[in-house]
Amino acid sequence: MRVHGIIHSIQGESTLIGVRTAIVRLSGCNLRCRYCDTVTASRGRGREMSIPEILRAVKILGVKFALLTGGEPLLQKDAPALVRALRSRGFFVSVETNGETPIPPVILRNAHVVMDIKTPGSRIKRAADGRVLLKNLGILKKTDELKFVITSEKDYRWARAAVRAGIARGRTTLFSPAGRGPRQRRFARRLAGWIIRDKLDARLQLQLHKAIGIS
Ligand code: SF4
Repeated sequence: MRVHGIIHSIQGESTLIGVRTAIVRLSGCNLRCRYCDTVTASRGRGREMSIPEILRAVKILGVKFALLTGGEPLLQKDAPALVRALRSRGFFVSVETNGETPIPPVILRNAHVVMDIKTPGSRIKRAADGRVLLKNLGILKKTDELKFVITSEKDYRWARAAVRAGIARGRTTLFSPAGRGPRQRRFARRLAGWIIRDKLDARLQLQLHKAIGIS
């Protein structure tokens, strides 16, 4: 598998925020989001590692949780086998995916999935019929999570319409302000105000690792 890096850290996002975790960052991505903050992973080749090598690197960290992220981890054909191998060794596995890549059944059965819904502000080129995204939305578990990265008030209105139309079907829905630093915190305050004003079933999150300045 093409691996950008394996680090011992805490989860920065999702309902698992703050949990000590082995973060397995895989290389390569099929999208080019305007705000991508992992460009070296999404565009780089990474280094080739076998599944046993990855398992050894994770095990040595002494964690109970493993997160597969990227880049887009599901582009790699061995991602289902890696998830299954981690689960069989007792790890709680979560996977972050961009919503525009098919989610294999093995991943759904063995991992907690946090799936992006790309807003217009991401400026990605989505297939006109949104076929992959719709299929993914149809197969996610109730316990999986949706994440919108919000870049502007226009994005917020777009995401609000999707939530009000019932896109989440009871799943946790995360709204994450794009960017970093003081600007991001100012925008997060506005975002919080809109969510409260609109009584929206969405959960505001700041990327904890960035807020405290760790990887
Ligand atoms: S999907 Fe994620 S990794 Fe890929 S370009 Fe977008 S933000 Fe970057």
